[in-house]
Amino acid sequence: MYLSHMNYIEVQKSLEKNDGIIIPVGSLENHGLHMPLGTDSIIPDKIAQLINDRSDLLIAPAINYGATDDLSGFPGTVSIGVEGLIHLLKAVCGQLYGHGFRHFLILNGHGGNTAAIQSVGSYLYTKGAYLAILNWWLMAGQINPDWAGGHGGGEETAGIMAIDPALVKYEYLNLPEGIKNDLGDSLPYGAWTNICYKGVNVTVPRQISAITSNGYLVHSFKGDVPTRAKPEWGKEMLSAVADYIIDFSREFIKAKHPGARAKS
Ligand SMILES: [Zn+2]
Repeated sequence: MYLSHMNYIEVQKSLEKNDGIIIPVGSLENHGLHMPLGTDSIIPDKIAQLINDRSDLLIAPAINYGATDDLSGFPGTVSIGVEGLIHLLKAVCGQLYGHGFRHFLILNGHGGNTAAIQSVGSYLYTKGAYLAILNWWLMAGQINPDWAGGHGGGEETAGIMAIDPALVKYEYLNLPEGIKNDLGDSLPYGAWTNICYKGVNVTVPRQISAITSNGYLVHSFKGDVPTRAKPEWGKEMLSAVADYIIDFSREFIKAKHPGARAKS
C-alpha cells in the first residue's frame, strides 16, 4: 500500500498490525550515454510497485535525490551530498517514528547513498527502531551471481530495459568506458575512485568525469558490459528482488528491538 494513497485512519489501523515501512531512496546521476539519469530511482520505484502489487506492505513516497558528488561533473546530475541525505532521511524517518513506525526498510538504488542511510540507521537504533538497507543491485547479484553488475552495466541496463525499453539509448550501448589513468600511468586506475598501485587499491576521491569519457563504470565487475543486458533478464531480476524483499520484510518486522537506548 502506498502511504500517499491512504488516509490517516487507515494508517492508524495499519500500525496496529505492524510498524514497518519501505522507503525507496534513489539518485539523479549520469549512468553513461545509453542510460537515463534517473536509473537509480526508476528501478527502486518499479521494485516498490511490484511489492505493492503483491503484498500489503506500506511504501512511503520515494526520496529521489541522493549523495552522488563523484558524478556531479556530468550535466544533469544533482547531488545533495551525504550530509543532505542524512538530514532529509532523518527528518522523514523522524516524523514516521513519531507516528509509531519502528521498522524502516530503505529500498536503495545507489551505492553512494549507503553511508548516509547507515548513519540514519544507527541513529534510529538508539531510539528503539530498526532500519534495514536493501541495496537492490547487490541483493540481485546474491540471488543470482550472473545478475551482478557495475554502474550502468548489464544489470542496471537490463532493469531499465524491462521497465521501459524506450529509456535505453541503444546506439550508445557499445561505447567503451573510456577509462583514463588521470593521476598518471604510474598510478593506474582501479575501481570507482580507487587507484590500483602495486595490486593494492587506494581510494582517491575525485570526479568520475575525470576518469571516464562517458561515465558508466563496470571495471571491477569482470565481463560486465551493457550489451549483455536483455529485457527478460531485467524482468526476472526485478521480480525476484521484489519477492525477496516481501519475504524479508515480513520477518524483519517481527524482530523485537531490545529497547530504546537513548532519550529522543
Ligand atoms: Zn545506478
